[in-house]
Amino acid sequence: MTDKTFVFGHTNPDTDSIASAISMANLQTQIGENAQGYRLGNLNQETKYALDTFNVEEPELLSKLDENSKVIMVDNNEFSQSVSGIENAHLQMVVDHHRLNLSTIEPVYCIAEPVGCTSTIMYKLYKQEDVTITPKMAGIMLSAIISDTLMFQSPTCTPQDRITAEKLSKIAGIDLYNYGYKLLEAGTNVSDYTADEIINIDSKDFMYNKLKISISQINSSNIDEVFKRKAELETAIQKKIEKENIDLFIFLVTDILEADSKVIVLGNRVDIFERAFNIKLISNTTLLKGVVSRKKQVLPALIESINQKIQF
Ligand code: MG
Ligand code: MG
Ligand code: MG
Repeated sequence: MTDKTFVFGHTNPDTDSIASAISMANLQTQIGENAQGYRLGNLNQETKYALDTFNVEEPELLSKLDENSKVIMVDNNEFSQSVSGIENAHLQMVVDHHRLNLSTIEPVYCIAEPVGCTSTIMYKLYKQEDVTITPKMAGIMLSAIISDTLMFQSPTCTPQDRITAEKLSKIAGIDLYNYGYKLLEAGTNVSDYTADEIINIDSKDFMYNKLKISISQINSSNIDEVFKRKAELETAIQKKIEKENIDLFIFLVTDILEADSKVIVLGNRVDIFERAFNIKLISNTTLLKGVVSRKKQVLPALIESINQKIQF
């Protein structure tokens, strides 16, 4: 047996990050490799609900990689959103659906597709390797697609994601929509979280043009309920900005039924955000109609806004 390959997604893991780490490790194991799936942080309520429903064990926490470890990255290819030590790892493979921001020393097997979910790509890899998808595995892969596409409402969703989700729901033996809304709803309960925890549930950092931008997102079925804690959330965001030298912090509260997002935006470069969406923030906030995707709607608009400014 060769030494173990570590399989993991991004920090502040979401359901896809966990599901694709588990399903990739399982696929590798099925084809005779020694691989294990890990999590790079605490699981959110939605992911816990998915694992509980399909009786899948929570992956072990990985907080640091030893030098020369063999690695497969799923649902992420940015080192800034990965584990400490990733720079010195032997990257074997990347399977992802985000923008590419990767530079490697060795050749790497890289599958990047602009679909709504890494688990949609994983489904195709199972077919390619002729490995059976068990009901358990189908259940968590399906959960990831529902989560990432916000039940097919996100502009990141493609027909492939929808078709794959339907196939997976049959294998898992569950009603797609009935389960899907329960899953999304499970992720919206943040009443037990502190403000600091809330802003870190699903936060991602991006470096662009020497600017540090953090985009954090939670789902909600009652935005007003979350905004009752606005003052507290702003204090937590302000603290994080100062501690981590963040230029722009965007906190999105995404309405899972309306598919809109209300935001809190702070930092010394809120001008980038205002230009990107052609709005003026009032008390650090605004409603973004139809905006639900960080990777496809928020981040590209910010990058464009930064680039515009550079040209002038
Ligand atoms: Mg993810
Ligand atoms: Mg994903
Ligand atoms: Mg996400």
